[in-house]
Amino acid sequence: MMGYENNVRKVIPYTPGEQPSGRVIKLNTNESPYPPAPGVFKALNESDPSDLRRYPDPTCSGLVSALADFYGLKESQVFAGVGSDDVLSMCFLTFFNGKDPVLFPDITYSFYDVWAEVYRIPYRTIPLTEDFSIDPEDYKGEKNGGIVIANPNAPTGVAEDLSIIEDIIRSNPDVLVIVDEAYIDFGGESALPLLSKYENMIIVRTMSKSRSLAGMRIGYAFGSEKVIKYLNDVKYSVNSYTMNMPSLKAGAAAVEDDEYFRETVSKIKATREWTKGQLKELGFEFRDSAANFIFATHEGVLPGEKRSDLAKRIFESLKERDIYVRYFPKPRIDGYLRISIGTDEEMRTFTEALKEIITR
Ligand code: PMP
Repeated sequence: MMGYENNVRKVIPYTPGEQPSGRVIKLNTNESPYPPAPGVFKALNESDPSDLRRYPDPTCSGLVSALADFYGLKESQVFAGVGSDDVLSMCFLTFFNGKDPVLFPDITYSFYDVWAEVYRIPYRTIPLTEDFSIDPEDYKGEKNGGIVIANPNAPTGVAEDLSIIEDIIRSNPDVLVIVDEAYIDFGGESALPLLSKYENMIIVRTMSKSRSLAGMRIGYAFGSEKVIKYLNDVKYSVNSYTMNMPSLKAGAAAVEDDEYFRETVSKIKATREWTKGQLKELGFEFRDSAANFIFATHEGVLPGEKRSDLAKRIFESLKERDIYVRYFPKPRIDGYLRISIGTDEEMRTFTEALKEIITR
């Protein structure tokens, strides 16, 4: 090992889902199967590359004001970043600067522990109950440095009642609670109404899923003016020009096209419900999903086959047919597949393939 390597910040990185090229059915990263809103096409077509010689607006004002208008907040209560990964990472850096462990569930978005590690934030994971629910009592009584809850949760798809989220925020007034609402547009109750009651919270969202803009990298957050100011102070201390000009324009246009947004989200929800029926018929088990994916398991079908064997077998066989889903080889969830919701046609092809694989 070279001497400099003693000083390297060594981390085990997050593993993103595969982005295969070519014509595949891609149900592995919870993207939208539909294109972005027509207004996004227009905004991008009308943008002039010669503007790119300038830096973008560091305050992201066009995007921030579109979001503030749409959600009925002040502009000073809105933060924007390069995907919600960037926003969440900034939140970890800003609000989790204490000595007590930050708490989040054992089964949740697998980036949380990576940010905790890279920023040297102490943390402890709290097991979800047997059926993948949160028991708010588990988040009380222990001194902690902050809490992160994804609602609906990933990869389980389970949405907790707002009363559970509120209970956790109310019981932890001395720390900041991050509510990651990446999937809230597909189901569940937003914590937005709690913002006027509690200062110790921030809501983080994304345009990658319900607004069909994963490729643009746009995330945002809502909080009190004070909380958003703290977040901006850290942002301006790391990189002031985070968002590029095209994404600022595309993001604002996506928010302004409410009709298209409602239409595509409701199509995805209808396809999700159809897919649930098909999976049930095939003997899959899953908690009811409020997100744009389903997290499903099936008892083995071959003699002696365990759930994890079958999950892996299905994952591989689907891939041979150019159908990508997500498999996490991790304790408690290695018998499950996370299946993103595609178009009706994609889901028909997927369920047909599944039928062949498990009944062969
Ligand atoms: N939070 C959760 C719970 C997610 O599943 C994802 C998607 N990987 C993200 C945040 C990040 O999404 P993005 O950076 O595309 O906004």
